[in-house]
This record gives sequence, structure tokens and C-alpha cells, in this order.
Amino acid sequence: MRLVLLGAPGSGKGTQAARLKAALGVPHVSTGDMLRAAVAAGTAMGLKAKAVMDAGQLVSDDILLGMLEDRLAQEDARAGFILDGYPRNLAQADALDHLLARIGQPLDAVVKLKVPSEVIVGRCEIRFKAEGRADDNPDTVRKRLDIYAEQTAPVADFYARRGKLQVVDGVGELDEITARVKRALHAESATAGN
Ligand code: AMP
Repeated sequence: MRLVLLGAPGSGKGTQAARLKAALGVPHVSTGDMLRAAVAAGTAMGLKAKAVMDAGQLVSDDILLGMLEDRLAQEDARAGFILDGYPRNLAQADALDHLLARIGQPLDAVVKLKVPSEVIVGRCEIRFKAEGRADDNPDTVRKRLDIYAEQTAPVADFYARRGKLQVVDGVGELDEITARVKRALHAESATAGN
């Protein structure tokens, strides 16, 4: 299964991907987690990315594509992946299409977790207090939501035009949301005749 999870910051992509990876038997590939690991390791790329991330902006497309390409070349991604945090703009969606075509691994499904902005702001405040992520402070969250609306929302339309997008209600109990995503994936594979 090759799946892209879309949704605003705080929509629950990471939480749901972590729950789905065992069920689907594929790794959770989070570009945010990979960047945070690079920052923690103090690599040159991490140092460059840190200021951009702390400001709630997007790290450059070139860096992300190189990082993703390396990750998808690893053994465990051969059976598929759950992509969380990528693509975040139309250029990345296009680059992903080309990359996956080149490695012969086209996407099976794209699921968007739909969560109202006021719920997102509340969730990020809780995460800010619990985890202390600099980019979860309320001002930066507002900035990230603006960037999401401007740059990432069109990515959902990009997949919708191709008949690939499933929209799932991302509000409620975690188990129920996981069940909704699984139902959407079953519906998708039934339609695709798999
Ligand atoms: P996330 O954990 O997915 O919310 O990502 C945290 C931060 O990492 C984002 O606010 C961006 O600064 C950066 N980031 C993660 N994924 C991407 C991406 N696909 N393109 C650009 N920047 C990204």
C-alpha cells in the first residue's frame, strides 16, 4: 500500500500514520520527523532547516525531494509507505509523481483528514504544552495554517481531479478515525479492483 495522508498541521496525520503502519505493514514516512531528526543530529541540512521550521515556513523543495528519494530507496519502503507531511505544495506533488513513476511505485490512495481550524488551534496548543515544539506556539500555528491554505490545500484538489482523493472526518475518537481511514482505503481498493 502506497498512501499519502494529507491534512493541516495538527489534523492527526502523524498519529493516524503510526496506528496504520502495523495494519498496513508499511513504514510511516514523516518528512517533519526526518527534518527534526536532522536538526537534533546537528547535520548541515538540519542547521539550515531549523530556522525555517521554527518560523513555520516550508523547507526548500530540493532538500525535501532529496531526503524523500533516499528514504524511499530503503529496503523497508519496497512494500509501500505511508507518507505524512509530503507533498506540501503543487511542485512537490508533481515531483512525487515523477519520482514514483521512475521507481515504479505509483500511489494507491490519498486520504485527507478534515479538521476545522478552531479544533486544530486547540490541538496544537495542547501539543505545544506537552512536547514544546517551537512551531506549535499559537502565532506560528496561525502562520502554518495560512501556508497550508495557500500552498497545501491545492494539493488535495490536484489528487481530487485525478479521482484519487478520499476525505475523512478527522474529529472524534482516535479508534473511530482510524476505522474511517481503513474504510476509505478498502473502498479505494475495491474501486481499483484490487
Ligand atoms: P510537520 O511535522 O509535518 O508538521 O512538519 C514540521 C515542519 O517541517 C513544517 O512546518 C516545515 O517547516 C517542515 N516540513 C515538513 N515537511 C515538509 C515539506 N514536505 N516541505 C517543506 N517543509 C516541510
